[in-house]
Amino acid sequence: MADRYLSLTATAPGRFLTRRLGLPQPAALRRWSPEQPCLPGDLLHLTAGSGLRGLAPVLARTGLPLAAPTAGRPADTALAAVVLDATGVRDVDTLAEVHAALHPVVRSVADSGRIVVLGSPLDTGGDHHQAAAQQALEGFVRSLGKEIGRGRTVNLLRLSDAEAARSTLCFLLSPRSAYVSGQVIAVTAQGSPAPADPSLPQAGRTALVTGGVRGIGEAVARALARDGAHVVVLDVPQARDDALRVAGQLGGTALALDITAADAGERIAAELPGGLDVLIHNAGVTRDRRLVNMPSERWSSVLDVNLASVLRTTDALLAKGTLRRGGRIVATASIAGLAGNAGQTNYGASKAGVAGLVRSLAPRALAEHGITVNAVAPGFIETRMTAAVPLFIREAGRRMNSLAQGGLPVDVAETAAWLAHPASGAVNGQVVRVCGQSLLGA
Ligand code: NAD
Repeated sequence: MADRYLSLTATAPGRFLTRRLGLPQPAALRRWSPEQPCLPGDLLHLTAGSGLRGLAPVLARTGLPLAAPTAGRPADTALAAVVLDATGVRDVDTLAEVHAALHPVVRSVADSGRIVVLGSPLDTGGDHHQAAAQQALEGFVRSLGKEIGRGRTVNLLRLSDAEAARSTLCFLLSPRSAYVSGQVIAVTAQGSPAPADPSLPQAGRTALVTGGVRGIGEAVARALARDGAHVVVLDVPQARDDALRVAGQLGGTALALDITAADAGERIAAELPGGLDVLIHNAGVTRDRRLVNMPSERWSSVLDVNLASVLRTTDALLAKGTLRRGGRIVATASIAGLAGNAGQTNYGASKAGVAGLVRSLAPRALAEHGITVNAVAPGFIETRMTAAVPLFIREAGRRMNSLAQGGLPVDVAETAAWLAHPASGAVNGQVVRVCGQSLLGA
């Protein structure tokens, strides 16, 4: 459903009027396209405290030209992105270097630009000064994200090895992360090899997307097919024609199957004798009612689609060895599960359960199967699901985030594609919100 307010503020009179009234000013977000795969402008690399070894060559391969340090750079040069390496921040004194580094350059960051702050892992071996200074980076990033405006995003990446974080840096510094802001993402030091052809990272791999015929699932299926995967589009039997249509457009395969079937995992395994590399748990439903009015079937149907089937099929596909080493599982949570939402005790419980599943399974799946497990947690995304939300709640959902607009299915799809990327082996057990830094549960 079209966001008319966003269209209004894109016109000069609309912008003038809404500014005078003190209303939100959403900026048109720059998203990835084959014609414009990179953000326009340079990347400025700054450091607070001692810097991370090996970072400069990794930044040099993100596709953005490196900006000259401040002294040699004209003051009005627009920056596509700033990476502030704050991994060496150990106390309140070195924390001041974060302010000193970013204060003079924030104005130079272009519309839809990126600020990525790098922090060290929070396990500081009992040094409470360092722990305080590193935790302080989270409040800093989230606050800057809320004030920076103009479609610009601010995220914190915790890392100890620059090379292992490369796919994540590439994502955060690209137009693909347009609706990801205010996030804290941790990557481990164990990376995975880059694909032979960076433009087709999923070449030779098979991906299955549940609920893949429309909305977010369809966008994920399209993103993975663009990246070279053979995509299996799974949806309910009633949507068989749509599944055939979408799969046909993507050169993939349709699978008409209710994911809540007790033997869904076995049937997927039987369809994929050659194995599976990427499993996207996207199918989801809402059946909203306040708890006092909620009959048990509303509770159980939501829990069954959104959580129990995710647990069942994951267990079955891991046990059968259908998911291959180097595989990726990406589940779909929701900010309603992280923050809670009136009328959604069933949905919130199911989506919080997804986050619990991811955090618990991730270390074991990696150790035993060589597979990562992560989740996306969408905020307000423009789909059929949110088109059904009452007008005023829908408007509030769109505006109550730092980017003052709803996200698009492609924003979730790009995030899932990064988590599913063969080079994203260092990203495990993360629940990444795709919510424009929603005020809900932030
Ligand atoms: P949607 O309703 O547009 O699409 C959901 C798809 O899942 C449909 O194609 C549907 O047929 C399929 N599906 C439902 N039950 C199924 C079953 N039992 N077996 C197989 N397929 C089934 O929803 P959407 O807005 O695209 O949301 C996709 C996912 O993102 C869901 O998990 C949803 O909870 C989550 N999410 C969406 C938003 C949002 O703002 N749209 C926000 C947070 C989370």
